[in-house]
Amino acid sequence: MALIVQKFGGSSVADRERIFNVARIVANTRNAGNDVVVVVSAQGDTTDDLIEKAAEITHDPSQREMDMLLSTGEQISIALLAMALDSIGTPAISLTGWQAGFRTNRAYTKARITKLDTERIESELARNRVVVVAGFQGLNRMDDITTLGRGGSDTSAVAIAAALHADRCQIYTDVEGVYTADPRHIKNARKLQEISFDEMLELASLGAQVLNNRSVELAKKYGVELEVLSSLNPIPGTIVKEVADVEGMLIKGVAKDDNVAVISILEVPDVPGISFKVFGALAQKKINVDIILQSVGRDDSKDLTFTVPRSDAELALAVLRENLSRIGGTDIKVDTGVAKVSIVGAGMQSHSGVASSMFEALYEANVNIRMISTSEIKISVIIDQAEADRAVAAIHSAFIH
Ligand code: ADP
Ligand code: ASP
Ligand code: MG
Repeated sequence: MALIVQKFGGSSVADRERIFNVARIVANTRNAGNDVVVVVSAQGDTTDDLIEKAAEITHDPSQREMDMLLSTGEQISIALLAMALDSIGTPAISLTGWQAGFRTNRAYTKARITKLDTERIESELARNRVVVVAGFQGLNRMDDITTLGRGGSDTSAVAIAAALHADRCQIYTDVEGVYTADPRHIKNARKLQEISFDEMLELASLGAQVLNNRSVELAKKYGVELEVLSSLNPIPGTIVKEVADVEGMLIKGVAKDDNVAVISILEVPDVPGISFKVFGALAQKKINVDIILQSVGRDDSKDLTFTVPRSDAELALAVLRENLSRIGGTDIKVDTGVAKVSIVGAGMQSHSGVASSMFEALYEANVNIRMISTSEIKISVIIDQAEADRAVAAIHSAFIH
């Protein structure tokens, strides 16, 4: 008998029909002689709808109350799925994140799991029940409800698989696996049979929504192999593991991230300590800075340009304005009309010319590059948002045949 963790995303449990579809997948797995723990997300667009409801009340909601609100979505799904499983003769019990033992730090709306006490899950499995756990949620030290950030149910599933030493962790979604680009936008995107944790982590962090990046981080840390597959089409998906078959591919995928803003501070003094003042102030507010560009000093001053998540741009601007006299710049500019387009592939470590092929594809598509950043296995460019889809298509066809 094996222990299998199966996670189903929002579209997989969107309505009655989909819930029974999931119940059948779970029942089949169990009837084949396995113990099953299921993790589910909120139905369809529920989480977005809840965020909108909060915005109808206030533009500056307490983060604690946001988590109280957002956690309700997953609670609906677990109850409905447990009922559906019972009704088709598969004994099941639903557990909220806290009943399932998830403890987190106190960072409301983007909490990190600090501990997972699996006693309850294990005792329910021992009673021969399928255990249906609400993803995306936990409790902090004050016993307040927290959520793990968008897409956080993936992380809940991987954490359970790691803690229980599950034999398999399957992430069921609405596409058939991990593709070389978002298959909803790039028609000839190719499904990958395998991808390494490192490549998947980059893709997920650079905008490929199919897996949450923290879930991949956790899977790598605890050696949990993942299978990403479709809840609607029962064919093999993509395996995410430590060392993946390269399939002769230099580039594993192209990703786009719209959640980017470029901030420039003009004419800061060209003296030691400026970067520390700027990025220290942003770090204090937990704002992640990504690509940083500094112009060559001229007349004892220079410009400092960098990217932050667009969702943090307003806060970043407020923090910098507050500190501008200390920093010494003359003006701050924010541009939210940008996107980041990236290519990812372990193969580029041992091949030259990958960057120039990417830049050539952009040149031929007449796309202007505003910023560039590279690491061992990825290259990212910041471009105008209006050109991003065209850029992804051009780069994809340059690398993936
Ligand atoms: P779930 O609700 O199951 O968690 P998500 O919407 O979070 O599903 O993630 C699945 C979506 O990710 C797909 O519908 C697809 O549009 C998008 N996606 C983006 N990049 C990729 C990629 N490289 N491969 C597969 N899907 C991707
Ligand atoms: N329901 C949450 C979200 O929409 C968590 C998840 O789907 O993984 O982000
Ligand atoms: Mg998701």
